[in-house]
Amino acid sequence: MRAMLLDAPGRPLRAAEIERPTPGPGQLLLAVHACGVCRTDLHVADGELLHPKLPLVLGHEIVGTVAAVGAGAAAAGFKVGDRAGVPWLGWTCGECRYCRAGRENLCDRARFTGYQIDGGYADFTVVDARYALAIPPGYSDVEAAPLLCAGLIGYRALAAAGDAARLGLYGFGAAAHIIAQIARWQGRRVFAFTRPGDEEAQRFALELGAVWAGDSTGEPPEPLDAAILFAPVGALVPAALRAVAKGGTVVCAGIHMSDIPSFPYEILWGERVVRSVANLTRSDGQEFLTLAAKIPLHCEVESFPLARAGEALRRLRAGELRGAAVLDVGR
Ligand SMILES: [Zn+2]
Ligand SMILES: [Zn+2]
Repeated sequence: MRAMLLDAPGRPLRAAEIERPTPGPGQLLLAVHACGVCRTDLHVADGELLHPKLPLVLGHEIVGTVAAVGAGAAAAGFKVGDRAGVPWLGWTCGECRYCRAGRENLCDRARFTGYQIDGGYADFTVVDARYALAIPPGYSDVEAAPLLCAGLIGYRALAAAGDAARLGLYGFGAAAHIIAQIARWQGRRVFAFTRPGDEEAQRFALELGAVWAGDSTGEPPEPLDAAILFAPVGALVPAALRAVAKGGTVVCAGIHMSDIPSFPYEILWGERVVRSVANLTRSDGQEFLTLAAKIPLHCEVESFPLARAGEALRRLRAGELRGAAVLDVGR
């Protein structure tokens, strides 16, 4: 099968022919149709997340159809021909204190798709059937892919923002463009912050229902009740703290961020909160995809053939995408 391989951090992806995986006990073999390109893929490729499996197939927003079912995997409810999605959370131990407390996103021994487990930048992949997700009908494969991380982890970040009526989103890319739609559907007012001068992204945010869009270096027209940082820029943490009202929460949604500069205590004072969100639980996935079926969401996607995965990563790094980049693997 075709795969785009990461041989080592800092190296460009390499197009290769590798052996098609076979599903072990409890696993599904999926024919990959589409795989989203996430900022986390960049962090892995750049060596900002340590100790990846090498060589590695990146990609953890996978949509495909079940091509074979390993021994015992049918118990998870999938059969050959079903459409299935694979998110970032690939395996958890079920035994540690986090798993036992319903917080498997924090599992001490968790393994992640496209990081410790080969992912979806390939014609086929295998997944532990217990971690696969059913994809709502009404979304094409390419449109559904960004739901599996940008949407899903964005949704966990939105939940962490509490019932904030005035919500700031810093970095208006794949995740924010989905979360803005949910926030609006929930009756919140969305304020979008982009790279300075990125008028295209600001227009895009306004089209999706943001009440205001502007530069991340500036201030919103009124105080916010919460802010979610999707941009991996530590300097935005004090900026967002200055933008939120007393009692407001700043949620850092990315897996990696540049260092946060020091800031005066007075911008944290007033019971403001800074927190991160990490990974996802399977129930986050089911809850979010049920909501995505109901709303429904519009995913703005720029698709690339598998062989152009490197270009998709480069465009993401440069901030040159509108919405989400997705590999259209069947193309
Ligand atoms: Zn665990
Ligand atoms: Zn991701």
